[in-house]
Amino acid sequence: MSDHSALLRQIPGIVHGFGDKQALLPEHLRRYEATRPEKKQVHGTRIVDVTVPGQQCGEADGFITATPGILLAVFTADCLPVIFCRKDGKEIAAVHAGWRGLIDGILEKMAQRINQSGDTAQWVASVGPAAGACCYEVSQELIDAFIQRVDLPSELITPYQRHLDLAAIAEAKLRALGFADVDHTGSCTICSPDSAGTGFRYTSFRRNSHQRAQNPTHPGISGRNQQSGIMIL
Ligand SMILES: [Zn+2]
Repeated sequence: MSDHSALLRQIPGIVHGFGDKQALLPEHLRRYEATRPEKKQVHGTRIVDVTVPGQQCGEADGFITATPGILLAVFTADCLPVIFCRKDGKEIAAVHAGWRGLIDGILEKMAQRINQSGDTAQWVASVGPAAGACCYEVSQELIDAFIQRVDLPSELITPYQRHLDLAAIAEAKLRALGFADVDHTGSCTICSPDSAGTGFRYTSFRRNSHQRAQNPTHPGISGRNQQSGIMIL
């Protein structure tokens, strides 16, 4: 069973879900896959207005639409998917935000875009499964860059030494940007076990890199990223 946001579940007229290893694209979204915009995610901050199914978006990491029948979905493996919806269900958005997107301001760009034609106070946001603070150890240089460039308490950015809390940073930013409500769905993509307890729940770029370092014949994650998406029915 794929992850759902309790917040988004209350909104009428939309479908959404966060993928995992078992269903990279959640089962109930699969039939809409052909409508997903074509894009190359590059850890950037470019946001595209999507108006037609399968739209060619080029290099982009954020998508927004008010058009029914277009699945906005982003691929992730340790990076954060963030799904947005206006409270009346009439406009939706999705963002792929890794550490680079967070530090470079993709959430701020999305809030700006929403505020051009509306108000973030009329929208909610759900932060999906990503590398958790339990596992996401990074360089001290990166921690220092976050503390310098992101206006949040350092104990929120890094609850354990040299561990970055992507979801907490995203949630705090979204609240500061005026979203009506924010929730966090799913768990750590690096360490969460699957339901059988014999393997892992999510595809993880970090875990895969470690496996490949030990065994170069281990397959990469290409084609195995999970997808998180939302669509207006
Ligand atoms: Zn973990």
